Amino acid sequence: MSILPTPPSQGCRETPVLKERGQREVFCGLTGIIWLHRKMQDAFFLVVGSRTCAHLLQSAAGVMIFAEPRFGTAILEEKDLAGLADANEELDREVARLIARRPDIRQLFLVGSCPSEVIKLDLSRAAERLSAVHAPHVRVLNYSGSGIETTFTQGEDACLATLVPALPEASAQSTPDQAPDLLLVGALPDVVEDQALALLNALGIKNIRCLPARRSDALPSIGPNTIFALTQPFLGDTHAALIKRGARHIAAPFPFGEEGTTLWLQAIAAQFNVPAERFDSVTAAPRARARKAIAAHADALSGKSIFFFPDSQLEPALARFLTRECGMTALEIGTPYLHRALLGPDLDLIAPGPVFSEGQDVDLQLDRARQARPDLTVCGLGLANPLEAEGLTTKWAIELVFTPVHFYEQAGDLAALFARPLRRRALLSPPQIRAAE
Ligand code: SF4
Repeated sequence: MSILPTPPSQGCRETPVLKERGQREVFCGLTGIIWLHRKMQDAFFLVVGSRTCAHLLQSAAGVMIFAEPRFGTAILEEKDLAGLADANEELDREVARLIARRPDIRQLFLVGSCPSEVIKLDLSRAAERLSAVHAPHVRVLNYSGSGIETTFTQGEDACLATLVPALPEASAQSTPDQAPDLLLVGALPDVVEDQALALLNALGIKNIRCLPARRSDALPSIGPNTIFALTQPFLGDTHAALIKRGARHIAAPFPFGEEGTTLWLQAIAAQFNVPAERFDSVTAAPRARARKAIAAHADALSGKSIFFFPDSQLEPALARFLTRECGMTALEIGTPYLHRALLGPDLDLIAPGPVFSEGQDVDLQLDRARQARPDLTVCGLGLANPLEAEGLTTKWAIELVFTPVHFYEQAGDLAALFARPLRRRALLSPPQIRAAE
């Protein structure tokens, strides 16, 4: 079997980071509801917010209005804003009506938003009060998806972090052979999660649970015998909450691409003493498929430069994949937050060279992008069109979260996401421009 590429003699874990705290162009954490409500099949997400919040959700979800989605917005009207109605009473009434109409709901998340009147409402007390009323059939929890506090992937982190204290306690020796329980953390599409579980089972690892669980009756227990692996790099608060419950984190590069997936699996396999021969025989075929699928995009990606605006917190892990497996050069790796405890193993594999920036001052960053003239710019929807008009080729960051991109079988799709805009640009550019490029 092939070996992994050699790590750089010096990675970027200690590289100084440009910290910016200016105007930012990102989606808010409500966006996570789109993938969370699909994943958690008996949960309902009730946004307490404004018409803007309702519009964001409707347009982001491409809502089928007849499908009764498991999310909605309790809109605070102007009379509420003027203090003429008791918003708590109205909220209680709406929740009672919702639960009566939807007996399939077992978990209800009250999701806070930006408007100042929502901020004044104490949603954690509301969740406690409503839990007491609707227990044991429905558990009510709360978190904030406010654009003031969260970027778009932080909504998932806030949701999972609020779940952790409510998870049952596992005994210190929960299995007969005293092997630890493995918890996979991060909302993956079911088909992708099933692939990961199949690989881990083939390695001989049992007692695997997932957070979030697909249904509330499958919520994992947590205790000192729990070790957990993150599948997404934006789960900083969830990581902290799990550590607080006594669970232990398995640090590893994130499972993007062949290398990332192999190192992620290896880090878990080491905790369960999986023999190297077994690891190789289980992973050889999917590794070969992943390499072949990535190679199909090498012509478009190799030798090209890339610039990341901060958006999903996936940026450092994706930069590692693109620089090491696709032959790209990263010029700037911007990310909303650089969580070194989570992303350190990815940073170790990125050769020195790119600028790392955390947070955003969008005008300054636009100036840097214009000066760098990258072949590909990864950014939010609001920046993409203006940059395209200036002749830069862009990739919408949000697609990286909405598309299945984890593990071996999606490695080719991940490379394709970056290759597609470059191919489109090559096709649309007049031959003389192509020659000059
Ligand atoms: S939470 Fe704030 S940023 Fe998000 S849609 Fe509502 S008002 Fe807009």
